[in-house]
Amino acid sequence: MPHPNGGRGNTFPTTKTFAQAYAHVSSYGLKFNSTTGEPITAAQGVAQDRLTETINFQGENSRHGNVCEQCWGFRKNCSGARIGHCVEALNAFLAKDL
Ligand SMILES: [Zn+2]
Repeated sequence: MPHPNGGRGNTFPTTKTFAQAYAHVSSYGLKFNSTTGEPITAAQGVAQDRLTETINFQGENSRHGNVCEQCWGFRKNCSGARIGHCVEALNAFLAKDL
């Protein structure tokens, strides 16, 4: 099921909300390293329904999926893609910065 169906798998604590992260990455993108050490650019996007706000994670050579408010803090997003390594790192990056 696509966004915003809800995240799957285990959860982890986040100190920043999806809305805070969405605002901060902006449409230009924010660069950080995932918890697996990969360079990621996060930027604002929209889900397939063209309504649900998402943060898209782009690696150097591949996409790492995206996250919406309903799957923020889950290891897997609404579509079942593994995104925890990106969300956890983005949260930590913002926690230092904001
Ligand atoms: Zn979602």
